[in-house]
Amino acid sequence: MTSLPLALECVTEALGGSCDGLLKIITNPNLINVAYLVAIILFIVGLKKLTSPATARQGNFIAGIGMMIALVATLLDRQIVDYKWILVGAVAGVPLGWISARKVKMTAMPEMVALFNGVGGGAVALIALTEYYTWTQHGIGITTDVEVASVFSLIIGSISFWGSVIAFLKLSERITGKPVTFPGQSIVNSLIGLGVLGAGGFLLFSTGMDPYWITVAIAGAAAFLGITLVLPIGGADMPVVISTLNAMTGLAAAAAGFALGNNSLIVAGMIVGASGTILTNLMAVAMNRTIPGVLFGSFGGSGETAGPAGAAAEHGGTVQSTDAASVAILMAYAQSVIVVPGYGLAVAQAQHTVREMADELEKRDISVKYAIHPVAGRMPGHMNVLLAEADVPYDQLVEMDDINPEFERTDVAIVVGANDVTNPAAKTSPESPIYGMPILEVDQAHNVIVLKRSMSAGYAGIDNELYYNPKTQMLFGDAKASLAEIVNELKNV
Ligand code: NDP
Repeated sequence: MTSLPLALECVTEALGGSCDGLLKIITNPNLINVAYLVAIILFIVGLKKLTSPATARQGNFIAGIGMMIALVATLLDRQIVDYKWILVGAVAGVPLGWISARKVKMTAMPEMVALFNGVGGGAVALIALTEYYTWTQHGIGITTDVEVASVFSLIIGSISFWGSVIAFLKLSERITGKPVTFPGQSIVNSLIGLGVLGAGGFLLFSTGMDPYWITVAIAGAAAFLGITLVLPIGGADMPVVISTLNAMTGLAAAAAGFALGNNSLIVAGMIVGASGTILTNLMAVAMNRTIPGVLFGSFGGSGETAGPAGAAAEHGGTVQSTDAASVAILMAYAQSVIVVPGYGLAVAQAQHTVREMADELEKRDISVKYAIHPVAGRMPGHMNVLLAEADVPYDQLVEMDDINPEFERTDVAIVVGANDVTNPAAKTSPESPIYGMPILEVDQAHNVIVLKRSMSAGYAGIDNELYYNPKTQMLFGDAKASLAEIVNELKNV
């Protein structure tokens, strides 16, 4: 198969025209670099627009156009000599990506994001492997800077791919979300880490052609590290892990761009790397953790899940349940209500119904705000995305630090499918796996209503003291159904 520029040449010749000039222009390296520059600008504009829910969709679209331009420019590059495998990849990948993105449920979005991130890391590691294969098979000499970038992308890309696969399995609950450890894990990890660095150093400093199997061994050892680094991290600390893996994929892609001499890949990788690093830092601050503490400290706890009976016995307290009519009356006579959304809101797809409830309350001049915890749900910004879908006004969404002082002045805090992010054990129980994590202080409100289906634990797998607080009343059932009943009752109060 010929290259795309040559194929274009054949077509134009077959049509009887001579487009040599045009072909020279569109495959000119300078024009390709201009196309990359346009793509980079679109990435940056798209990213900027993603910072607000109002412009996020537009930002996604703009960045997508940028990616399309970068792809076309790369395909026109004369360095590509054979399109066969590119075509195979496109035929397999495009429908797969399209269908999975169309079909994914909102609740499964976090694990899909983890998987897509991992695929990026895996692609980068494969690029490094194939580049090494070409160099060793054809005896091509390479400069040290290119080799450093390739070794880096091989190691980080491989860790990122396998770490993301474990994150995907944990988030989709295909494997346990609790920490998985084995005796001597830290020592084994350290030894493998040193081995990977040593082998990488050997590749860099040895003279002459290195055996190809060393790169394959590095990729394998880095894969093992990716798996064993993520397995011991407990549920509640997953946000930090996911954003770290995201940053790693970006940095590995930037390094691959450097090795391939592809400017758009360098910039796109750096954008992902930088934003992932900032996000990792934000998530760590939100959890009151240090990044090394999460990655190497096996935080997140053993997560013993207490069932209803066990939980009640442990607390020696009772749980008060209520019904929709009583909740409606309580709220109808309140002056202020704070809605605390969590992962259960996403599961129940109750964002529109919660908005209906807020509308009913506002008709009565009751102040309604939404308390947003940075790690509520299963991905950064999960609650903002859900509530934006239901057109909840942005000014009603209040971040944790700003809303916490308001709870003690609030008549009713209504917790909709949130659990870990409201658990007072984070403040009161040093032995709790979530100890130290800032929470939404709903227990300070005058009345607390909790909407969930059972007494089951949240993602961290621990019992919630809030449910035994005398101020708390539980409305058991699917959040959407419970909210719909409350809305009906409110209309009758
Ligand atoms: P949790 O996972 O702690 O709790 C969700 C609760 O929702 C459950 O207790 C469940 O109880 C309830 N629920 C589920 N389905 C429904 C339904 N249909 N109707 C009503 N209730 C329902 O969620 P939070 O948002 O409080 O906390 C997020 C957790 O996830 C934290 O531990 C966080 O660290 C972790 N995490 C966050 C990520 C992020 O980036 N945001 C990424 C990965 C993990 P029941 O079954 O009884 O109904």
